Amino acid sequence: MSQRCTASHCAEPVAGYSVYCEAHKRTLRRHGHPLQKAITLAELKPYLDSITARRTKNPTNPTWELLRGRWLALSAHAAASLDSHAAGAITTTYERQTAEQLLALGDTVAGDVVIDTALAMFSMWEQWPTRFKSDRAFIYQLSRRVRALSEIHTGSHWSAKDGRMKRTYRDAPPKTLECFGASLRVAFGLAGMRMAELDKKDAEGLKAERQELSDALKDLK
Ligand SMILES: [Zn+2]
Repeated sequence: MSQRCTASHCAEPVAGYSVYCEAHKRTLRRHGHPLQKAITLAELKPYLDSITARRTKNPTNPTWELLRGRWLALSAHAAASLDSHAAGAITTTYERQTAEQLLALGDTVAGDVVIDTALAMFSMWEQWPTRFKSDRAFIYQLSRRVRALSEIHTGSHWSAKDGRMKRTYRDAPPKTLECFGASLRVAFGLAGMRMAELDKKDAEGLKAERQELSDALKDLK
């Protein structure tokens, strides 16, 4: 009898030497964990909206300029590593792909959009940790959402079921997704966590204010 997939509640036979079936093996490659589901734009939206509101509320705070500087530094580092590769230095495929994709993103998407998406992902991770199956799954989702900002990472195909053209997402190899996400984490992780803290503080303030009003209403004569 062949081995069964070890992903939770899965009864499918394993694929080759994997401990997972074909489907769970594929999900592991794409999402960093066999049970991780893609983060949708709709799920990320409240966190993105909160970052936008934070920008509006603090327009002169140096955070935004410093983060922009980090994004530029990341692009500059990517360009330098591609130059040294062209000059014959030994680089890994995933490092090279990460550098190419960072540059392509910088060419096609506004820096602030990249920054806000990354910040929103970190904020979501902090405020909704159970949505991510592991740290690695988070890094993959971070990569996927940021990469999805750029048209160059997507193609299109005809969907007979929906009767229209649909966008398809071209996957990067797992190591590239991981390397790409790790770069974003170094640049924006700390700031993203701080955004989550601020959201929590705002929510607590709102709750206290509601409680105060509810107490005051009770005392009305
Ligand atoms: Zn399975």
